[in-house]
Amino acid sequence: MNGKELAGVLYKSKYTVCISGREMIVEDGIDSMRNLETAYEIETKYGYSPEEVFSARFFNTRTEQFYEFYREEVLAQDKEPGPAYQALAKMEELGVLQCTITRQLFDFPRRAGCHHVYNLHGNIFERNACPRCGKLYSMEYLRDSGKVPLCEKCRVPVHPGVTLLGEMVDIGLMTEAADEVAKADTLLLAGTNLWTETVQQFLKYFHGTNIILIHDGHHFADKDADIFLSGKCSEILPETAKELERLKKTEAAKAENMEKGEAVEKAMRPGRKADCMES
Ligand SMILES: [Zn+2]
Repeated sequence: MNGKELAGVLYKSKYTVCISGREMIVEDGIDSMRNLETAYEIETKYGYSPEEVFSARFFNTRTEQFYEFYREEVLAQDKEPGPAYQALAKMEELGVLQCTITRQLFDFPRRAGCHHVYNLHGNIFERNACPRCGKLYSMEYLRDSGKVPLCEKCRVPVHPGVTLLGEMVDIGLMTEAADEVAKADTLLLAGTNLWTETVQQFLKYFHGTNIILIHDGHHFADKDADIFLSGKCSEILPETAKELERLKKTEAAKAENMEKGEAVEKAMRPGRKADCMES
């Protein structure tokens, strides 16, 4: 199956939920810390693995080092959402995609134009907050402060708006996202595989009929998806969105023609009746 054919499946779906995975940000030029090479570089540079540095424990005990890492390896990497995210936004606009769930931190779906997004692990822009008074700070404040960004009032380190390892995820948000998956008849897994923690977590709630998986490369569990497309989301999804747009336009044109037809018929009816009465 290709992107265009996938459009046919999505077009028939009643409720589609997308789980957008790590490969999607990697395609847009973000260097994932889960990439082995990157992880190795980080460990050499900081003396700790990315998992160790990106943790609540590290944030609490070595805040300055944490922020050095957060600025250089996370905030400095921020890029623009690419064609795959634009395609998701288009699909949402067309009413074919109901929401997107992700735990990536860059808020790409929303920045591309999606409105219904669940950022499970927060994002770099929102909820950068003082743990004491709750005052919010911008991403730029965190990025541009020399060492540790402090709350202007309380002088304590601002906590970034992302969930660090060892911290509780937002349970309310998780529940809402799980409810969305439970409503879906189609689950679109984009740039991930069936065995990631996030996908496994949500599969439990899915009672629909179509599990569609798109990712570049191969994973032993790919065959368990109902539909598997091997390739880049940035190539497949735009093709899908384009075809969906065409299908929607055709549908709209058909509806318009039918309406016109009915209007003509209605306009003719009184005339015919009049004829009948005269005769
Ligand atoms: Zn404060």
